[in-house]
Amino acid sequence: MNKAKKATIAVRKGIEADKHHGAVVPPLFLSTTYSFADFDTKRAYDYGRSGNPTRDVLAETLAELEGGAKGIVTATGMAAVHLVTQLLSSNDTLVIPHDCYGGSYRLFTSLEKRGLLKLKVVNFTLDKTFAEIEALKPALIWIETPSNPLLRLTDIAKVVETAKNCGALVAADNTFLSPALQNPIEFGVDIVVHSTTKYINGHSDVVGGAVIAKTAELGEELAWWANNIGITGAPFDSYLTLRGIRTLNVRIKQHEQNAFLIAEYLERSPYVKSVYYPGLESHPQHVLAKQQQRGFGGMVSFDIKGDINDAARFLTNCQHFTLAESLGGVESLICHPATMTHAGMEPKARLEAGVGDTLIRISVGIEDVNDLLADLERNFEQVRPGQSQLKSNAVKAPDNDKTSDNCANFVSPAHIALW
Ligand SMILES: *Cc1c(COP(=O)(O)O)cnc(C)c1O
Repeated sequence: MNKAKKATIAVRKGIEADKHHGAVVPPLFLSTTYSFADFDTKRAYDYGRSGNPTRDVLAETLAELEGGAKGIVTATGMAAVHLVTQLLSSNDTLVIPHDCYGGSYRLFTSLEKRGLLKLKVVNFTLDKTFAEIEALKPALIWIETPSNPLLRLTDIAKVVETAKNCGALVAADNTFLSPALQNPIEFGVDIVVHSTTKYINGHSDVVGGAVIAKTAELGEELAWWANNIGITGAPFDSYLTLRGIRTLNVRIKQHEQNAFLIAEYLERSPYVKSVYYPGLESHPQHVLAKQQQRGFGGMVSFDIKGDINDAARFLTNCQHFTLAESLGGVESLICHPATMTHAGMEPKARLEAGVGDTLIRISVGIEDVNDLLADLERNFEQVRPGQSQLKSNAVKAPDNDKTSDNCANFVSPAHIALW
């Protein structure tokens, strides 16, 4: 049989597998306990924390999509991050990026404060970092690419090579792109982590996570810990997340097409200082993005002109962008990382990571992009960030009343060919 492509795996994994009734969709098993077949004879499942058939279909789907040997579904993305740290002892060094997800940063620094691991915070965009890591001989190198919220990339192949030279494992948080656009294991990464809350579930109605291991041995060790500390995901959450995965590829395509057009629009706006989107040629790692990703994703960040007051007015004056944390759902969200997602970081660390007061992050949804562009245009004209004296005719998003109800009036950006 031919090896199925990712979109097919996402749609078909577990379909038609029910042996009792021929249910096409994998059933939801809520039972917490399973009968023994006989004295001393266990069946495949015994207790819901340790194993659940619905959760297993999701885990197997994720493992196959990432190209790993085993997947573990966890209750939250942070539970997945925490699970990976169970591999470390107090003498082990964990290397993390200075601009990793705020919650991960808080967890890693808290574990270090309690003496549970040694921590080294680095900037992976600097060449000298790699030699420094080798000298440290860490047990685990953590990467997150593209990073949140500035969409900086980490060269996955280079990190894997560094890890080989010093005997470290590499874990990659792949939440921002999802397995539809990037598969770190293909580059030699040992462990992939997801907050399935984001693109994988995609409908902002489940908090969940997953860890995928390259090898069965590492997968078994992580699965043992997941059961041990009791962080495995709930069956109903797994069921919904699996339903979300069925449409992952079509959603991501639309997220990306909308994001690309919004990033291009923002780059031309006189009210915007900088735009951060790996699909733009102006992105310092655009070439790397084309090498290690199959697309550029749906997250766009930008610094507006002016100060925090302009940012506050802009953020609270949107029609089609909801002011909220999180990302990856079908609806567009807008957030202020400095006071929202990254509020848990020390102010100094936050500034070092480039998360200033005028930074705005958008999780671009799959609405009609004409509505999104028109909303941004109206908002800029009303708020006029940082330059109320500026003439406002420099940029024009399409007049929404004159556009049709689909986005066929936009020429697809060339990058869509990457699909
Ligand atoms: C959201 C997120 C997490 C944490 O996941 P939760 O599901 O919120 O616990 C970890 N990493 C990244 C990159 C995230 O965006």
